[in-house]
Amino acid sequence: MADKLKTALFKFTCCAGCQFQLLYFFSPESFLETLDLLDFVYFRMATSKELKEDDHYDLAFIEGAISTTEDIEKVKKIRKQSDIVVGYGACAAHGGVQSIGDWTPQRKLEETVYPNPLQMKSIKVHPVDEFIRVDYQLRGCPIDEVEFMELIRALAAKKEPYLREYPVCVECKFANNICILLMRQGVLESMCLGPVTRAGCRVACTRNMRACFGCRGPMTNPNIPEMVRTFKGKGFTEHEIFTRFTEYAGLSPEFSEGARAYYERKAPYYERPEWRAA
Ligand code: SF4
Ligand code: SF4
Ligand code: SF4
Repeated sequence: MADKLKTALFKFTCCAGCQFQLLYFFSPESFLETLDLLDFVYFRMATSKELKEDDHYDLAFIEGAISTTEDIEKVKKIRKQSDIVVGYGACAAHGGVQSIGDWTPQRKLEETVYPNPLQMKSIKVHPVDEFIRVDYQLRGCPIDEVEFMELIRALAAKKEPYLREYPVCVECKFANNICILLMRQGVLESMCLGPVTRAGCRVACTRNMRACFGCRGPMTNPNIPEMVRTFKGKGFTEHEIFTRFTEYAGLSPEFSEGARAYYERKAPYYERPEWRAA
């Protein structure tokens, strides 16, 4: 058997739910296979092994978004120390839930959360690939077990991993789901972002009659104007459309385009993320 990949898992700003997913919700078969393929030398939630400052990794998973100036230096160091860097979950890939705050002035956010915001040195939330090259992204909130296993099997075999670029709708049709975008007009649950969201979650929401809210971020070449037109045609307001596009991946150029109409005309108090400014 090939050598295990020397692996570290780092956490930045997030709920750590993607680590939790691996440790508590993967099937026993997948979990044991993971331990066969990966040698975790740093994984805070799972082992007591200490971080060795100048270690080198075959594989580094980065979970969470970047939200402090210290994070930027840390993530650059991880890149230098690692052969392969994988973004681990929606927070790493697109900023995740906390990226909603990027549409509000930073000082206002700090004053809302902290009793003494003068001590704060926070910055806007950033996806990891704003600062370093990320080789692969495991998307979703949380990550998907099947996709994770496909990725680590490929990397262990020194092959290129297969990551889906098509929309959630394709998986939805393969699963013979009823389309709630077409079926239930006029209520929030029918506001399904599946036509423009990247597949790979095995339709976790739509198979349970819940709309896709875009946690895996945009597919390749999504038709965002048409998605917005469809939502408007079903009677959804610009604010509802803005909210849907910015729940998990509003910092992506594609989904921020979907949020733009409300932002530009109805919400002058929102602060557009500065690195996306036109
Ligand atoms: S992607 Fe979701 S589950 Fe994973 S760390 Fe971020 S918020 Fe938590
Ligand atoms: S329910 Fe959503 S993901 Fe499924 S086919 Fe309809 S629009 Fe696409
Ligand atoms: S259906 Fe959409 S929101 Fe639900 S897990 Fe899949 S990509 Fe995420």
